[in-house]
Amino acid sequence: MLIRSGDTVEVITGADRGVKSRVILVDRAAGKAIVEGVARVYKHVRRSQKHPQGGRLSKEMPVQLSNVAFYCATCDKGVRLGARFVKDGSKERFCRKCGTGVGQIAPAKAAHATGSEKKKAPAKAAASKK
Ligand SMILES: [Zn+2]
Repeated sequence: MLIRSGDTVEVITGADRGVKSRVILVDRAAGKAIVEGVARVYKHVRRSQKHPQGGRLSKEMPVQLSNVAFYCATCDKGVRLGARFVKDGSKERFCRKCGTGVGQIAPAKAAHATGSEKKKAPAKAAASKK
C-alpha cells in the first residue's frame, strides 16, 4: 500500500471516476482512504452544542484504495506505484509507467546502496558465521 496522505490520486471507478484530488487520510487497516471532495455525503445532524442549527453536513466518506490510483504528473494519469532502492541506499516510490521517482520513503541504508553492495555482502556473510 504505497498511497500516503497528501498524495494526489485519480479516482478510477464509481461516481467520482476521473476526479483528481488530494488524499486526506489513509486507513491502512481498512484499506481505505478519505479523498478531498470524493464520495461526499450529506450527514443529517440534530441540533447540538457543536451544531446549534442542526441541518445537513457535507463530508467525505472513505473510499476503497483499489478505486483510486496515484496520479503521476509526468504521465498525466493514474498509475501504479513501485518501491525501489536508490543508489545511496534510500528507498523511494516510483511510477511504474514512466519510472519517475516520486519521493523518498525510507532513509539511506548502506546495506542497500548500490556500488558498495558487492563489497558489503561477503563481509556480512563472514560476520554471521562467527
Ligand atoms: Zn509516470
